[in-house]
Amino acid sequence: MPPDRDSGIPSVQSLKGIGPATAEALRRAGIGTAVDLLHHYPRHHEDRRRPRPVSALRDGDEALVRLRVVKAGGGEVPGGGRVRSVVRVTGADDTGTLEVELWNQPWRARHLREGAEFLAFGRVVRMRGLRMRSPATTTLKDGEVPPDSADRLAWNRMVPVYPLVEGLKQRILRAAIHEALERHLDLLEDPIPAEAAAGMRFPPLREAVAAIHFPESPDDVARARTRLEYEELLLLQVALALRRRSLVRERRGFAYALTPELDRRIRARFPFRFTAGQDRAVEEVLADLRAPHPMNRLLQGDVGSGKTAVALYAMLAAVANRRQAAILAPTEILAEQHRVNFGRALEGSRVRVGFLAGKAPVRERRPVLRGVADGSIQVLVATHAVLEREVEFRDLGLAVVDEQHRFGVRQRDAFRRKGLRPDLLYLSATPIPRTLALSLYGDLDVSVIVERPPGRKPVRTVLVDAGGEGAAHEAVRRECAAGRQAFFVCPLVEASAKSDLRAAEAEAERLRTAVFPEFEVGLVHGRMTGPEKRGAMEAFRAGRVQVLVSTVVVEVGVDVPNASVLAVLHAERFGLSTLHQLRGRIGRGPHPATCLLFASPGEGDAGERIRAMLETDDGFEIAERDLRIRGFGEFFGTRQSGVPELRFPEALLDAPLLDRARRAAAALVERDPALAAAPHRALREAVRRRFGGRLDLARV
Ligand code: ADP
Ligand code: MG
Repeated sequence: MPPDRDSGIPSVQSLKGIGPATAEALRRAGIGTAVDLLHHYPRHHEDRRRPRPVSALRDGDEALVRLRVVKAGGGEVPGGGRVRSVVRVTGADDTGTLEVELWNQPWRARHLREGAEFLAFGRVVRMRGLRMRSPATTTLKDGEVPPDSADRLAWNRMVPVYPLVEGLKQRILRAAIHEALERHLDLLEDPIPAEAAAGMRFPPLREAVAAIHFPESPDDVARARTRLEYEELLLLQVALALRRRSLVRERRGFAYALTPELDRRIRARFPFRFTAGQDRAVEEVLADLRAPHPMNRLLQGDVGSGKTAVALYAMLAAVANRRQAAILAPTEILAEQHRVNFGRALEGSRVRVGFLAGKAPVRERRPVLRGVADGSIQVLVATHAVLEREVEFRDLGLAVVDEQHRFGVRQRDAFRRKGLRPDLLYLSATPIPRTLALSLYGDLDVSVIVERPPGRKPVRTVLVDAGGEGAAHEAVRRECAAGRQAFFVCPLVEASAKSDLRAAEAEAERLRTAVFPEFEVGLVHGRMTGPEKRGAMEAFRAGRVQVLVSTVVVEVGVDVPNASVLAVLHAERFGLSTLHQLRGRIGRGPHPATCLLFASPGEGDAGERIRAMLETDDGFEIAERDLRIRGFGEFFGTRQSGVPELRFPEALLDAPLLDRARRAAAALVERDPALAAAPHRALREAVRRRFGGRLDLARV
């Protein structure tokens, strides 16, 4: 379905004050019509409704004040190699005085003379009395904001602050949107059918859009927001429900034979008994394989919960049914590890495992490609990248996508493009809340492994500050002397792989010569060739190396149970989910394990990430805190992942609202799958416009 480009809707250039240059800047931001502009919602509002008395101001407040200039001064201040100008004004109201500094706006001096009245909005700081630094200001005429000034939308009201549009000032956006509201609001059609709005007490669409831009009060904004959030969730859920319908109708065209005898044979290949969680996941997978339509399941479980065993079980079931199975890993090291594990589990069987990763020479890859194509290789272990490029299968029955924490619908679409419809199992260590997974991928089933394999010790996490390095090294020494091993992970120093490498090399050298001369210190980093990496990891796995220094290449999946210490250098520079993934490298064996975070966390996000690590070891809680720290778009990397871009992504965390939207959408699609009834027409158009391309609804 092509998105219908709002035919007949006035372009932004038809609005007063928008010339070709502004229109072009808007167009670059995806805003072409007056309707697009109406949907360009503010990030937040500044409450500039009423001036506050100076005597009521506190350090840190953001406030509007109305002042008379009692003293004006300023001048030029040298600093940082250049001269900056400052206008300094002492302002007063009936209750007190406030210093106002305006940096690099020398022209302000002309208006702010003694006796002039002005409004200022900004943050108050206490520094030798109360002051505001570079607040927004406007000079009053006869005690009023000049009525025809461009500032009129910025004072004595709730003032919208818009997401930046490059090349555009807030003032221009505000004026253009204000005019679009006055002239074109009636172009908006409410897509929420009455039946889906029943019982919800919120304003109709036009009122909500007007209020989200220019509300009378914060309450107005909240009501409007809820209404717009609900609408977006409803559209998304309707789109997902439509997509699900289309997928469920697809048939596998092949029936699995899954006997107790096969179950017994597969389980005998593992050196351990499955945990209750693994058993449950296996059952759910088997139920999918028995069903007539292809499996599309996400298996979530914290790092170390044993997802690989479930995946291997499923793959062996496919192979026993004479179909091929593949597992795709995001990195070479992880693919390599699967190769080793699968090789071990399949020892003595006739199953042939092929391996494709990185830049292996043609003479190595050709026989694998041939074997996969003619079916003599039954199990393929590969990196995502390799698979997408060049592999042809004879009969791919099942594909496992490992460590899909940026998962999206893309993998399935990559298979579809190759004309394949395999059963799909995604493994993810980022346990996003179940409702969220369901709403992002309404067509995905979810299994969760909560418990970890028996005998796991919780990992102790310790912050190592500048003074604590010596003691931390001693702790590492004791572990290694007792036969254990340690990871040292270096951060991405800069955006350049070269300098990361230098930092890791320097650290390895220092540890080797100055800190742990009695141990073997190895190094693995992203610039090594495949065989070099393999060699370094193998030496560590085999215990010939006690301390392994690495860049973040060990992040995902690496499994060396004898390692009991993980030291992360400059931990403040790592993302929270990366830190948690890294921590998952240890605590896999019978020995107590320690995670050492070398960091000077300080304030802000970095401090919060470190705090989260010290406070909890629970993957679900980590994921949720990470989501809140980073924000939704960043967390999911929406652009690459196939997760639809939302205007109100945080609304997905509003479980009750989401639930209502899901139920309403299910009921709508159930009753009217084509959304053909007249009261559903606006809904159908809106779904198509917002999510039609993104969710590939063309086939629906
Ligand atoms: P993840 O879920 O992070 O991918 P893995 O599948 O790598 O976890 O499993 C982590 C470790 O736990 C591996 O060494 C694996 O052999 C082991 N393991 C998996 N399941 C069990 C089990 N039921 N009992 C004991 N050890 C297990
Ligand atoms: Mg894993």
